[in-house]
Amino acid sequence: MAPAQNPIISQHVAVIGAGAAGLVTARELRREGHTVVVFEREKQVGGLWIYSPKPESDPLSLDPTRSVVHSSVYESLRTNLPRECMGFTDFPFVPRLEDESRDSRRYPSHMEVLAYLQDFARAFNLEEMVRFETEVVRVEPVNEKWKVRSKTSGDCSNDEIFDAVVVCNGHYTEPYIAHIPGIKLWPGKQIHSHNYRVPDPFENEVVVVIGNFASGADISRDIAKVAKEVHIASRAREHDTYEKPPMPHSNLWVHSEIDTAHEDGSIVFKNGKVVYADSIVYCTGYKYYFPFLDTNGYMSIDENRIEHLYKHVFPPALAPGLSFVGLPGMGIQFVMFEIQSKWVASVLSGRFTLPSQDKMMEDIISSYETLDALSLPKRYTHKLGKIQCEYLNWIAEECGCPHVEHWRNQEVVRGYQRLVSHPETYRDEWDDDDLMEEAYNDFANKKL
Ligand code: FAD
Repeated sequence: MAPAQNPIISQHVAVIGAGAAGLVTARELRREGHTVVVFEREKQVGGLWIYSPKPESDPLSLDPTRSVVHSSVYESLRTNLPRECMGFTDFPFVPRLEDESRDSRRYPSHMEVLAYLQDFARAFNLEEMVRFETEVVRVEPVNEKWKVRSKTSGDCSNDEIFDAVVVCNGHYTEPYIAHIPGIKLWPGKQIHSHNYRVPDPFENEVVVVIGNFASGADISRDIAKVAKEVHIASRAREHDTYEKPPMPHSNLWVHSEIDTAHEDGSIVFKNGKVVYADSIVYCTGYKYYFPFLDTNGYMSIDENRIEHLYKHVFPPALAPGLSFVGLPGMGIQFVMFEIQSKWVASVLSGRFTLPSQDKMMEDIISSYETLDALSLPKRYTHKLGKIQCEYLNWIAEECGCPHVEHWRNQEVVRGYQRLVSHPETYRDEWDDDDLMEEAYNDFANKKL
């Protein structure tokens, strides 16, 4: 898209959330000349990375009256990607060797990611834009502006008018629970990974973990340290799968999907194996959730597809006043937030323009048709997988910022290959020193 010729406009913008997405969005908006208020219901920046030892009271998070715990981080969590490819482009996530309290590993613990985000907020004076312990409870369009109702911890409610709202509320808090035929009568304990913290409650139990990607692979191994047996149900495996991964876990098995659950405590897998289990841990992902958003029916969520979003950022009928940063999950996350937020900031200032509403809708419909042609369900709409880099480079061109670096994309691709092939060791043994060297040379050349 060619730059617009109009003078640059400064808008008053609300950002919802001070996690990685909200922080970089606030920075990019301010850099573009906008005034920014970030609403954050927690007491500090960092979002998902603020570990809460106490999970929600309802282990499946189904009770609508429960008090919500935002973070899904478990105690043993280390990043699932190398640190170099996680950081923002001009603030690399490199080891802080001068500080002994920091974790210098290539795949550091969750505490190191929180410390990095705190460093980032400090380096760019971002906290001065944040209103902590202030929850957004309603957002609605009013006369071409946006009314934002917020509530402080003292229950004081306040309405304010903004030119635009950027939603950065995270999407790993509202669990998706996979349905198992017969589960209503199954007598054991059930928990979603959102509420998993430590393995201790599973001591000597037979546990079934559903899901075998990042969290499933980690949590099953964590539980296997104390449980009698752990059985992983993996949708990605052939139906006859029944295998024991290599040591050190002699009590861990991988199966295909679960077929049924029964009143006598048994779980039957599609490979025909029957296991009498004490607990099921669902590592089955999350749902998009915007309880504060009232768009007069312009937007809805169907099977985890947010209808409708142009390039996962702008709802055509409400753009550019309403936008979303950070929706596609997995892969390059922080840099995706950075590139999306540069796009939002530059469209709001008028430096770049969006296509017409009709053209945006045409693009969205064509993306739905592509999914249909591949027989992929609606819930795959915001999963970018292999096309993430192409997607980010497209946005980068749209708003005149650099493409994703070659090494960053390749580290993600090879990192995920290692995660799948060597879930036990991928964080401590790797074969991409060449990419790591390219990354550090890049940081040195840019004097970062
Ligand atoms: P969050 O970090 O969730 O921030 C959202 C913020 O919005 C929160 O602070 C929340 O309090 C606030 N908020 C929500 N609703 C409101 C409201 N109504 N009013 C005010 N404030 C509100 N990514 C990686 O790159 N590497 C990894 O290794 C990695 N590991 C992960 C492990 C797990 C278990 C999970 C679940 C995700 C992981 N991710 C990882 C993805 C991770 O979620 C993103 O990297 C990123 O941290 C998400 O940032 P965010 O700002 O979008 O959301």
